[in-house]
Amino acid sequence: MRMSVGINSRDIDELHPTVARGCRELIRRMNAAGYAHVGVSSTYRDHTHQNWLFDQGRSRAGNIVTNARGGQSWHNWRLAFDIFQNIRGQEWNDSDFFATAGMLWTEMGGEWGGNWTNFPDRPHMQYTGGLTMADHRQGARLPEVASMLWEHESRPWEHESHPHPPPHPKTPPLPPWATDSTAWARTNGITDGTAPERSATRQEVWTMMHRLYNLVME
Ligand SMILES: [Zn+2]
Repeated sequence: MRMSVGINSRDIDELHPTVARGCRELIRRMNAAGYAHVGVSSTYRDHTHQNWLFDQGRSRAGNIVTNARGGQSWHNWRLAFDIFQNIRGQEWNDSDFFATAGMLWTEMGGEWGGNWTNFPDRPHMQYTGGLTMADHRQGARLPEVASMLWEHESRPWEHESHPHPPPHPKTPPLPPWATDSTAWARTNGITDGTAPERSATRQEVWTMMHRLYNLVME
């Protein structure tokens, strides 16, 4: 039996940056789908931890949880993460939770372990950019600048000709007694006429008095 259990990180920032962005987006989409408690149980694993997991159910007691030895799991290459429902007692037993996550992740361009026929792994999400494990053994790596499908998809709200313009501040109609003075103040540069019903600060009053003084002394 191996003495060390190695490193099993839950830190999203330990993932490849492309997969880290995807992980955060998946959590956001899960939240939007009504799953507010998405936990991450594993991101990067070192080879030692992967071998320790491989030993489970083989040289060590427990159920077999993986067929991958150190270097054979995408977790070892920072391209995979595992999720769970972060509700006590419901971590792994909500089938819809994982089905929804798998559907969303697949839509985003990732691969879901729940689709694997040999050894379905429903909590498992990965993105390899089309690279195989053999490619990795030969030194190929997902580029730092890689992006997933969801990052290329059009976002209609960014392409609208008028993308949610800030509401134009409504100027209330002037009361009759203020019509002449407002026109005079604007014409003579005392004020630009905005926010007619807002209280003036002391510095605004000083500024308007100063403008009036300069106007009179011209
Ligand atoms: Zn996994």
